[in-house]
This record gives sequence, structure tokens and C-alpha cells, in this order.
Amino acid sequence: MSSPQPHVIVIGAGIIGASAAWHLVRGGARVTILEAGAPGVLATGHSWAWINASWGNPEPYFRLRRRAMAEWRALAAAVPEIPLEWSGGLLWDLPAEKLAAYAAEHASWGYDIRLVDRAEALRIEPALAAPPERAVHVASEGAVDPLAATLALLRAAQALGAELMAPRAVLSLKRVAGRVVGVRTDAGSLTADHVVLAAGAATASLAATADIHVPMSAPAGLLVITRPCARILNGLVMAPELHVRQRADGSLIAGTDFGGADPGTEPQRVAEAIMTALRSLLTSGAEIALDRYTVGYRPLPADGFPAIGQPAGCPGLTIAVTHSGVTLAPILGQAMAEEILTGRVEPLLAPYRLDRFAAALP
Ligand SMILES: Cc1cc2nc3c(=O)[nH]c(=O)nc-3n(C[C@H](O)[C@H](O)[C@H](O)COP(=O)(O)OP(=O)(O)OC[C@H]3O[C@@H](n4cnc5c(N)ncnc54)[C@H](O)[C@@H]3O)c2cc1C
Repeated sequence: MSSPQPHVIVIGAGIIGASAAWHLVRGGARVTILEAGAPGVLATGHSWAWINASWGNPEPYFRLRRRAMAEWRALAAAVPEIPLEWSGGLLWDLPAEKLAAYAAEHASWGYDIRLVDRAEALRIEPALAAPPERAVHVASEGAVDPLAATLALLRAAQALGAELMAPRAVLSLKRVAGRVVGVRTDAGSLTADHVVLAAGAATASLAATADIHVPMSAPAGLLVITRPCARILNGLVMAPELHVRQRADGSLIAGTDFGGADPGTEPQRVAEAIMTALRSLLTSGAEIALDRYTVGYRPLPADGFPAIGQPAGCPGLTIAVTHSGVTLAPILGQAMAEEILTGRVEPLLAPYRLDRFAAALP
């Protein structure tokens, strides 16, 4: 970008927008963040917040997630208020043969994964009432308090000169002769050299105002949060139909999997079913009481992978929408800032450009 201090508008102050804003302001941009509500409380605030490069993904996506895990450490070194916990993950929510195949494949890719037997699983998590015969353990996995991390990034960006406007809703992107030149908001228009659209579940509808098609959905995910209790878990536990971890305040946060359960029409019953499973997972389960359940909406591009970058034929705009945004936020923010400010394109993001959806357009 040729301007000596380009002005970049970031739409959305979830974890993706906050990371983009911090990396941009660190890179020398003048940054304005526009947030329709309170920062960090939508998808980000309702996340299970597991940081991982776990099973079920092709190798390029594994490599992107591995890099993100490393970038979390770098980010937390630069912004020490980010509450990260590298507690490790114990997982056995796969049939035995798939578990072994996952361990072998990811070990060959360089993941610090190991198969453990029942005795070892119990050593890692002594509170398990019925430890699995076989599990895998990844010591380098962790979690972050996603709201606290978002607020810490925003504060750090503001300390470097970024401006946060909240509540300030963007109504549409402003496009002139093909180029995005700013936004219209509920309190007037703003111009900028570049706009980053990181509005989570609202990304597709805002992109459509500039005739950009982002195929995505926003499925609901229900998690339960218990009342705080004495420390019973050492790390993340991914049991069949039950993912659970213990937060810094002692509360447990759990779902049928990390993305949360489908709340259906009776979310209270879904929450109670998760509580029943949780009580039988742990030796002190009888003492665990439900505090509340939450329902968040996961921004999910149509093929399940991130959609990131500058859409072809639309200079002035970068879009970033993804599931696993808590894992990916540091690398996505860093890559967006570099691409906008220096033109350098992060090779790990090549499979995740928006243009891959163009072929699917009617
Ligand atoms: C139940 C659940 C469990 C999850 N578990 C994990 C997990 O274990 N690990 C993991 O890595 N990821 C997980 N995720 C996914 C992860 O939380 C999301 O990918 C991530 O939070 C997305 O961040 P975001 O900043 O894109 O979206 P959001 O946090 O939703 O932020 C978008 C922001 O844009 C703002 N906005 C919207 N429209 C406008 C507008 N018109 N003008 C201005 N601002 C606007 C919103 O108010 C919001 O603050 C989970 C998500 C859920 C819901």
C-alpha cells in the first residue's frame, strides 16, 4: 500500500477483527474498528476456545493450525494480558482404529501426539470415573479465555493508536468504480484506504452490499457452564459426545463436542443431558451444578474452511470469516495485515482464498 500511513477500517471486534486490528496498527496503519454491539460477545464469547490442530483435517489445514498455535505464543508474549493455558488435550472420541490412524498420521506430520493406555489416561486426568482403554494426548494443545483475549488485543491496539467505535453498526460497504472506499454506518459514512470485513456471522450479508458472494452458514452451538468447583481437570478432555475443560474460575465448560450441541427446540433439556453425561464422566460428578447454558452461532464458510483474503476484482477489501477462529486468529490477523500493508501473501492461506467459491456461483 503506497500511502505512508494507510487508514484501515476493521468491521467487527470479535477475536478475528481484534487480531487484525492489533497486527495492522503494529504494522503502521491508522486503524478504526467499528463494532455494532459489545466487543467479543458473539461467536467469540460463546466459544469453547480449544486451540488445536486435531483430527479430521487435510495436511494443509493442519499446517495452518500448527502455525496458528505457534503464533498464539508469540502474540501472548507481545500482549501478556492474553490468558492462554497450554494444558494439553486428552481425546478418545473416535473408534479405536481411527484413533490409532489419527495418532500415526499426525505424528508423521510432526504433531506431539501420543497414544496412551488407561493407566496413563488416569495419570493425566485422575478425576475420570471410567478412564478410556485407549486415548491420545497432545501436550501442546490449550485454550484461551476468548473474550478476555479479544479485549486485551483491543486495548493493546488502542494503546498503539487504534480507534474503537462501539456501538457503531456498518450498514453497507461503499464501492466506487469497483473499489471499496469505505463504509456507511448508522452514524454516517467513513472513508478508508482499505476495509477489513470480520463481522462473523454477519459477514455474508455485509459482503453482499458490495456484490461479493460469501457462501456460509451460522449453525447454533450450545455449551453448558457449571458453577465453579475445586480443580478437577488438568487439561482439555474430548470424550465421546462430551468435550469439557475447566476454566480459570473453576467452572467447567462442556458440550457434546467443542462446537457445541444443537440446541433444538428444547435447549434446557439439551443442557441437562450434557450435565448428566458430565456427572458420570467425573468421580466428583455428583457435586457439579449447572450455572447456565449459552448458545453461540459459528461463522461457517460453506466448505468448512476459512474464507480469507481480498476478493478478485474488488480492491480495497479483505474478508476474514472462519470457524475455529479462536485457534486461527493470530495467523489470520498477521497474514491480513502483511498482505494489506506490504503485499506479501501468506502461502499457507492459498487454499482458503474466497475465489474458490466463484466456480460455485449460479
Ligand atoms: C459454541 C462454539 C464453540 C466453538 N468452539 C471453538 C473452539 O473450541 N476452537 C476454535 O478455534 N473455535 C471455536 N469456535 C469458533 C470461534 O469461536 C469463531 O470462529 C470465532 O469466535 C469467530 O470470531 P469472529 O471475530 O469472526 O466473529 P464474532 O466473535 O462473532 O465477531 C464478529 C463481530 O462483528 C460484529 N458485527 C457484526 N455485524 C456488524 C456490523 N454490521 N457492523 C459492525 N460490527 C458488526 C459483531 O457484533 C461481532 O462482535 C466455537 C464457536 C462456537 C459458537
